Amino acid sequence: MNHTPRKIALVTGASRGIGLAIAVQLAKDGFDIWLNYHSNHAAAQKAKEQVEAQGAVCTLLPFDVADASAVRAALNPLLEKQTPYALVNNAGIRKDNLLIWMQDDEWSQVINTVLGGFHNVTKTVLAAMIHAKQGRIVNIASAAAHAPVPGQTNYSAAKAGIVGATRSLALEVAKRNILVNAVSPGFIETEMLTGLPMDKILPLIPLRRLGRPQEVADMVSFLCSDKASYITGQAFQVNGGVCM
Ligand code: NDP
Repeated sequence: MNHTPRKIALVTGASRGIGLAIAVQLAKDGFDIWLNYHSNHAAAQKAKEQVEAQGAVCTLLPFDVADASAVRAALNPLLEKQTPYALVNNAGIRKDNLLIWMQDDEWSQVINTVLGGFHNVTKTVLAAMIHAKQGRIVNIASAAAHAPVPGQTNYSAAKAGIVGATRSLALEVAKRNILVNAVSPGFIETEMLTGLPMDKILPLIPLRRLGRPQEVADMVSFLCSDKASYITGQAFQVNGGVCM
């Protein structure tokens, strides 16, 4: 019997929310999953069960994407044996405040997690991907990268930075057959939206509803598939029309 080994997808921040939906969808698509999360071990264990229910192998990788040495310590032993075909940089946090009130750590934690996390994880995986001469990198940005939101200078700066980094890296690695794109979700129903005023937000969304994590996962699935073989350096918005 001809047995083609399953490709591997590394998804950061995949114990909950959008990252979980991405991990489960990529498992359905035929990937084994390296599933990163930060500290919610109970959620990660449930996520692993959901991924494995799709017939995939799921390796749990608890580390803080903002901590470069922790990233390397977790990934380098795996990279000695296997190379992910797909990397989805999804881990992110928001700490909203008007700039005038923003604490230094509210600024630095968001920048270090979103932009630093992209840098730490991508750099660790990239050499192996370049060596393999194939790969897909999908960076989860945000509508905040494209449209202004008061109280999110830290988050907007980080997410706009992700879009810029996506384009720059796409140019750097195109000749190595590695395609790099960003996906910018609008308001997606996850724990990240806790505390936001939905009565004010819903009227701003042309489709008049929040997005579902699966709707972001479907775009990521496409970008990691053979169907997206001529797409690189782009940012795709999945936002119900909230920013056009
Ligand atoms: P959630 O808050 O629901 O989940 C966040 C996930 O990221 C969890 O798995 C969490 O792990 C993990 N995480 C957080 N910090 C770190 C870290 N330092 N290192 C490793 N993992 C970490 O977020 P969403 O699913 O809503 O968001 C996912 C991505 O989508 C983020 O980048 C976010 O900015 C972006 N986004 C979300 C939108 C939305 O409306 N929900 C809109 C636009 C963009 P643990 O469980 O261990 O805490």
